[in-house]
Amino acid sequence: MVQSTRSSYSVSDTAAVLQGIAPDGGLFVDPDISSRPFDVSRCLSLPYTEMAAEVFSHLLPGFAGMAKEIASVYPKKFSSPEITPLRPVGDAYALELYHGPTCAFKDVALSVLPLFITAAKQIEGIDRQISILTATSGDTGKAALEGFHDVPGTDITVFFPYGGVSAMQQAQMVTQEGSNVRVCAVRGNFDDCQRGVKEAFAKYNQSADAASSRMLSSANSINIGRLVPQVVYYFSAYAQLLRDGKLHFGDKVDFVVPTGNFGDILAGYLAREMGLPVGSLVCASNANNVLTDFITTGVYNRCRPFLKTSSPSMDILVSSNLERMLFYATGGDTDEVSSLMTSLSRDGSYTLTGSALEAIQSVFAAGCCTEDEVTAAISRLWHNHRWLSDTHTAVGFAVLDKYRRSASYTGNPCVVLSTASPFKFPAAVLSAIGGTPSDDEFETALRLSELTQIPVPESIAALRHKPVLHHDVVNIEDVVSYALS
Ligand SMILES: *Cc1c(COP(=O)(O)O)cnc(C)c1O
Repeated sequence: MVQSTRSSYSVSDTAAVLQGIAPDGGLFVDPDISSRPFDVSRCLSLPYTEMAAEVFSHLLPGFAGMAKEIASVYPKKFSSPEITPLRPVGDAYALELYHGPTCAFKDVALSVLPLFITAAKQIEGIDRQISILTATSGDTGKAALEGFHDVPGTDITVFFPYGGVSAMQQAQMVTQEGSNVRVCAVRGNFDDCQRGVKEAFAKYNQSADAASSRMLSSANSINIGRLVPQVVYYFSAYAQLLRDGKLHFGDKVDFVVPTGNFGDILAGYLAREMGLPVGSLVCASNANNVLTDFITTGVYNRCRPFLKTSSPSMDILVSSNLERMLFYATGGDTDEVSSLMTSLSRDGSYTLTGSALEAIQSVFAAGCCTEDEVTAAISRLWHNHRWLSDTHTAVGFAVLDKYRRSASYTGNPCVVLSTASPFKFPAAVLSAIGGTPSDDEFETALRLSELTQIPVPESIAALRHKPVLHHDVVNIEDVVSYALS
């Protein structure tokens, strides 16, 4: 059983994957993750797909009978034999999570989420249409469209911030084919999109239709089925370090995670709770540094300017998954979590103190960086190590530098999660390494390829000649009605 972060409401994991979000507005969590035994060393000895099946079966036992089959899609969808290969970069490591169909880490979860949803429908005996509603800061949208297009019994609607994603991310979404897909730009930022989607859920679940006609679900990391597949690559990173003789079993590894909605880093926390020897989890933010402030002071305050940066997928001020961390940090105190969330929506802020804050600070470190530091990191990584970084990963490396000079660093090996291909953000990356971008994004990608001798990923090169199929743009106040239409 999984339970809501805001009450004792509990459902089976299969029902939770279908519902996406709990009826009380809370997120589903596994309340006894740290007490159920998990054989870490056995898991680390397995190849990626089997490792994934073990993790799926442990965290979502309702799917155990299908876990192997679900995990077997990875080699078909990812171009690297390791699925998520670990590369030495200077004296740290980059965990490359972007070798899937849309060139961002979101593919790791969204390649399998449609299979979890289809399986859950079968197990729960539900034959209603499932409508997926998704807000995206750039990468979730395309990965979800890629996963759900033409999947029988489902349809998908994606909202993205108008002018708030990279040109390549936008091209990926608006050219999406499929008979069951809608893509809509919103005149607002990611937080507006995310709030609209959450409001649509609330409105629909109170309506008379909710019990009878289609069922709404989410492809965002608010869905527990999105988080679980992301746990696997923390194990994979550790296993690759073991295989290469970089550590002994039991040695701790620190992970630096470029963070927006706190989903990816929370998956690291879940891996740690399952017993993987993780030291610190370093939360890396761009100039939207609401999480840096929270982790260092306990004050979460979203009332600040929303800044547009070169790492748009991290331009977020309301980090949904932090709610799950609050649940764990308060020892499962759902009243406390509810009151913090009420304060967040009423006042735009809340303050965490005492043992709950200490619990967070004992695991998480945090840092943020400026746009200049991102550019400098991309340049340094390329010129010193011949490793090409995208803008989000560069936030991670810039924060890694600061972390290593801080008092909290204890000398563990450090792995930076590399969340997207540099070819999704070619203009920023090309200028950082000394090239000159063109007005045409595809020409820029070619110049980046020429300069670095790294090929443009096929799925990105192919976009150039695809027709634009989606033109809708709505105002913030119209997201709910569009979502439910
Ligand atoms: C989504 C995304 C992030 C942030 O991940 P969260 O799970 O939202 O914290 C970082 N980098 C890239 C490239 C992303 O697409």
